[in-house]
Amino acid sequence: MRKGKEVMNCIVEFPAKEILRNLVTARYNHHAKRIFIACPEGLVPVKTASQRYRLFKKKKICKSCGRIGTVARLESSEQKGRITYYFNFYCVEEDRYILMTKDHILPKSLGGRDSLSNYQTMCFPCNSKKADRIISERVKKAFLCMDCGKDTFSSKEYYSLNDPIWKSICTKDERGGMLCLSCAQVRLGRKLVEEDFKPTKINLKNPVVLSFMGETSAQVLG
Ligand SMILES: [Zn+2]
Ligand SMILES: [Zn+2]
Repeated sequence: MRKGKEVMNCIVEFPAKEILRNLVTARYNHHAKRIFIACPEGLVPVKTASQRYRLFKKKKICKSCGRIGTVARLESSEQKGRITYYFNFYCVEEDRYILMTKDHILPKSLGGRDSLSNYQTMCFPCNSKKADRIISERVKKAFLCMDCGKDTFSSKEYYSLNDPIWKSICTKDERGGMLCLSCAQVRLGRKLVEEDFKPTKINLKNPVVLSFMGETSAQVLG
């Protein structure tokens, strides 16, 4: 749930299939912006405009583990004194309710679009795992040498060159990227020397960088 929104108790639950049919049918056949649901609090309005409802109507099964969202719970949240009612969908396992989510197949952070064709149903646990994997893949990718693809994280080639040197071997777009030490030298057209590196801990305390600069430099810096 977004910040500033406090989720209130579930008021009532229904079979997911029935609710989804009503919500999506009302939206598309009757152009209804809201439908009213009878619950202990009276008749409450639920907005029908939701890509999530359209997706779940088509696919109730978690793409990853096969859990099925069978239960719809009418829930509400309060923001600035206004109560909004909506449905969340759950897979029920013993007495646990597992939230079903609308997942972007290609993540938004990687340019994925907000459209039905880019959505898939996923239970919350699978969605979280997917998010972790994508982050670790992105982090890994960020450490690959832009020229040879070497993993500079594993080879511990963390270093920082003086700005004019780094700027002379990278385009503007590449400045946030990584180059392994050998490729940096190839781009530079000569061997890197001690003066090319910033006199910072990241360079001076890094045995890989020191050994790369040669024993003389290592002694001077060490
Ligand atoms: Zn799952
Ligand atoms: Zn390289």
